[in-house]
Amino acid sequence: MSIENRGEITCANCSACCKAGIEGVFTPKEAAFLRRGGTDLAPLRDLDVMHAIALYEFRSDCGHIGKDPLTGNSICTQHENPDRPHACKTFVPGSLSCRLQREMQGVAPSGFDKDAFLRGEE
Ligand code: SF4
Ligand code: SF4
Repeated sequence: MSIENRGEITCANCSACCKAGIEGVFTPKEAAFLRRGGTDLAPLRDLDVMHAIALYEFRSDCGHIGKDPLTGNSICTQHENPDRPHACKTFVPGSLSCRLQREMQGVAPSGFDKDAFLRGEE
């Protein structure tokens, strides 16, 4: 499947990109937002002194992952919160990064053929 073919990818009952082990770039305010939810966030290195952004590793699943009360699906409970980090708002469902996260977290079906990707056919 080409990277443009994103039709079947949905964030409903996924949260694969919000799990322990992922890395992300956040401002101090965004890092505080994630920590308020209970996320164990470890700074890896500073990236921009002027804007004080840094690369962090999630040492736990994001604390803002919750259950949709209607469906029981795993969702971001802060999806409509304007304080949600920029990296969260701009992570593209169906992108290669998304499908890699889904593959690593065992969220199926993703339509991502890891073997084809490793052969350079994706
Ligand atoms: S991995 Fe992709 S489909 Fe899953 S929550 Fe993240 S953006 Fe949505
Ligand atoms: S705030 Fe929401 S979208 Fe961002 S990492 Fe946490 S659960 Fe995922």
